[in-house]
Amino acid sequence: MTIDLSVQQVFSWAASLTEQPDYQALTHQFLDILLEIPGVKKAAAYEIYNRSRKKTGEAVAPCEQLVRRFPLDFTRDESNDHNDLINILDNETSVIPKMPDANGRFRQVFLSIKNTKGPDRAIALDGLFGPDTIELFHQLLSIFRNQVILHDSKERDVLTKLPNRQSFDTRLLQACEHYLKHPVTDKNHQKSSWIALLDIDHFKRVNDDFGHLYGDEVLLTFSQLMEKCFRYNDFLFRFGGEEFVVILNLTDMNDAENTFDRFRETVANYHFPTVGRITVSIDITHIDSMCMPTTLLDRADKALYYAKENGRNKTVIYENTETLIKNASANDNIELF
Ligand code: GH3
Ligand code: MG
Ligand code: MG
Repeated sequence: MTIDLSVQQVFSWAASLTEQPDYQALTHQFLDILLEIPGVKKAAAYEIYNRSRKKTGEAVAPCEQLVRRFPLDFTRDESNDHNDLINILDNETSVIPKMPDANGRFRQVFLSIKNTKGPDRAIALDGLFGPDTIELFHQLLSIFRNQVILHDSKERDVLTKLPNRQSFDTRLLQACEHYLKHPVTDKNHQKSSWIALLDIDHFKRVNDDFGHLYGDEVLLTFSQLMEKCFRYNDFLFRFGGEEFVVILNLTDMNDAENTFDRFRETVANYHFPTVGRITVSIDITHIDSMCMPTTLLDRADKALYYAKENGRNKTVIYENTETLIKNASANDNIELF
């Protein structure tokens, strides 16, 4: 099978890859292009998390859910994950043909992108591919890879490599749209999504006492603790400065509070090199189907204010703050009289 492409076709693909506004749109576009190629029957994209946890000599990484189907969303369907890809992608090659037939063609090809700021990525292709098609995959992949790198540098924070504020805005909007279509009627018991602002306490003092360089090191270590403590289907962001955000998915209210409180304790007990101990205040709010992103952030801010006013190193759920504020003022009265 030979591929005969017009110059117009090639330019039109290149233009469509370079005009996408973000990584998600780019990946959708790349999948669409791949599906236009003769012989391609199926194309699916994946993101690979925490490959570093795999130890030398181990055939399979010890943790589950490493390979996640793109696009990641708020409701994980494990049947979409493809953890066996890990072994195939161990290869350093970027185009990996598999399942050859008697005529030297292949039924599967994996495209791999590594060593970017974000997670490793892979595309799995099913169909029937001759040498021409495989060469075309090489060429298209090099444009896609360049664009992925470009979007990573725009959408990820330079210091921690976490998705930045801009990515968070996009993701939060998607979450609001998702829950508008799939409203949650009982957030106490139903598994849904929660948003949390994590603000390091008295961080200015870290900079003042140790200098910005050590301050930066704390921020980096903090982000690594986040990556260890939260699950692959949660979304982590650096919101700005010493503030981080987590969108916690598939969790009821009690589990959300426990998860964040566990993280708060992990930070409080962690010994940061040079700086020693730091604490974090965390405020949580439910992603309500009726709420706009700005309302959710405003709620999170209110809960954060409560945590800061009440001793810091606290996990506060916005939905409980009214009760907490009432209790606090009742306690004030008791102390006064
Ligand atoms: P609070 O407990 O009320 O949150 O106090 P805070 O000191 O953490 O809060 P404040 O907003 O007063 O100060 C935040 C500090 O974070 C001020 C700023 O210098 C520092 N900061 C912001 N971005 C960075 C950064 O990228 N690197 C470093 N080293 N410091 C940063
Ligand atoms: Mg702050
Ligand atoms: Mg702070």
